[in-house]
Amino acid sequence: MPIKAEYIWIDGAEPTNHLRSKTKIVPDGTTDFPIWGFDGSSTNQATGDKSDCVLKPVAVYQDPIRGGDNVLVLCEVMLVDGKPHPTNTRAAAVRTAKKYKKHEPMFGIEQEFTLFKGGRPLGFPPAGFPAPQGGYYCGVGDDEIHGRDIVEDHLDACLDAGISVSGINAEVMPGQWEFQVGPLGLLEVADQLWVARWLLYRIAEDYGVVATLDPKPVKGDWNGAGAHTNFSTKEMREDGGYKYIEAGCKALGKKAELHMANYGVGVEDRLTGAHETQRHDQFSYGVSDRGASIRIPWQVAVDKKGYLEDRRPNANIDPYVVARLMVETVCGDMK
Ligand code: ADP
Ligand code: MN
Ligand code: MN
Ligand code: MN
Repeated sequence: MPIKAEYIWIDGAEPTNHLRSKTKIVPDGTTDFPIWGFDGSSTNQATGDKSDCVLKPVAVYQDPIRGGDNVLVLCEVMLVDGKPHPTNTRAAAVRTAKKYKKHEPMFGIEQEFTLFKGGRPLGFPPAGFPAPQGGYYCGVGDDEIHGRDIVEDHLDACLDAGISVSGINAEVMPGQWEFQVGPLGLLEVADQLWVARWLLYRIAEDYGVVATLDPKPVKGDWNGAGAHTNFSTKEMREDGGYKYIEAGCKALGKKAELHMANYGVGVEDRLTGAHETQRHDQFSYGVSDRGASIRIPWQVAVDKKGYLEDRRPNANIDPYVVARLMVETVCGDMK
């Protein structure tokens, strides 16, 4: 039987790019997936008169939805002359991963998201608001939990696809959830996070539900959605690594503005200083401090080695950009 290969790519939507995909039928036994093309004028990636963009396969996963030998093929978008398209943020991440390889950077990204139906988060009544936040985080029971069937299906799908999910949990606002990808290297974590997002949208679709990465899906006294980015280098993970963790925090502080400008559209609205965030215009780091820009987990402070957690990135980040910047800032400061 021929294989259905779902080619997945990131479009040029502004201000935040989105995922697109289409199906290519390839012969049974295909392992080397061919380049393909698409109409860039329909994805904000080209003009109508020069509409062709190129899909270059970069990572292949088993397709947990179609099953069998079918696959998901993550692609980079290229121009017809073979150069990376301006919207292709992975190409720069490839160069950075190579340059700082000896530091063996690792990431675990906590992807928060919100499930919506009929324009309201799951668990929100048709009018007005549910009970205030307090019991929903890691809750159990129909009064607190909304959409668990979707989240469980998504977890199974990720594991079947070979994505390194390290856990899931219900979040602080009703209908809000999190999954974590990692720890993995720079390219692997970002590739897998984009594919995990695609699976989330695709599975929620079957339930008539929209999954969104909107960083502040409900205004007012409701938690926003982030993508806490946990980061370490080889030096940080080794005995005595604590001094490298502190140096990493300081290096990130020196470049706070550059990072904030790349931590997702609307990051100022989410980082208010309330709801377990530091203000967007202030920088701080501290052990166990969920009101800091960067938290050093208490276990890391005890072990004197491990990783740091950058709490600033929004749910709607491009992980190729965020992970690349963290490596450039922290590893670039090490020599
Ligand atoms: P939180 O307490 O902030 O909710 P989570 O358990 O949700 O933390 O996420 C922590 C993430 O950190 C996980 O994805 C985990 O894989 C990742 N992680 C653990 N150790 C490291 C490490 N040394 N380097 C990078 N990431 C790590
Ligand atoms: Mn978490
Ligand atoms: Mn969380
Ligand atoms: Mn966290």
